[in-house]
Amino acid sequence: MTVLVVATGNPGKVKEIEPYLSGLNWELQLKPPDLEMEETGATFRENAAQKATQVAIATGHWAIADDSGLEVVALDNRPGIYSARYADSDQARIAKLLGELQGISDRRAQFVCAIALAKPDGTIALLTEGICPGEILTTPHGEGGFGYDPIFYVPEKGMTFSEMPLEMKQEISHRGRAFQELLPQLKSLS
Ligand code: IMP
Repeated sequence: MTVLVVATGNPGKVKEIEPYLSGLNWELQLKPPDLEMEETGATFRENAAQKATQVAIATGHWAIADDSGLEVVALDNRPGIYSARYADSDQARIAKLLGELQGISDRRAQFVCAIALAKPDGTIALLTEGICPGEILTTPHGEGGFGYDPIFYVPEKGMTFSEMPLEMKQEISHRGRAFQELLPQLKSLS
């Protein structure tokens, strides 16, 4: 089986990405923990491609990377590509976002996820993007998931990402939608 390196060090993402890939004809490996990835792009797509390319070249294998984040309408789409760097921990990021949105009634937001697959020489073979619209609550709800999940409410399901069973989040999330587009193409490559 051909090796496919999953280019992320975020355990929350690994937990969500692995189920999509485990039934396929690829031998999955995690990125070596000491391999740092640069993220200097201006868009989710550029960053996903950059991470996949770097990990493919460094390991000599196919690599898959996701770049994702939260765009909040009232904050001119911040934190966006800076969602991971917005503050030092999930708890601090949530507190900072709720602080910035205090007194603001427009709570519209969307999660965006770009996924890139790079060949062993670093060239990009596939690139997809998924979006999930929702709203930012005023207090956290639920225990599951990671990142901004406890404050991201999806009206379509009447709950936050944190309150959903993983299978439901997988079906409707930004990452799920990007994978649903990618998987048929990935299957034909493996
Ligand atoms: P990056 O893609 O590694 O730059 O990080 C994206 C950041 O966006 C994560 O560290 C989380 O804070 C946030 N994020 C991305 N996807 C999700 C999600 O599904 N739920 C909650 N937060 C997310």
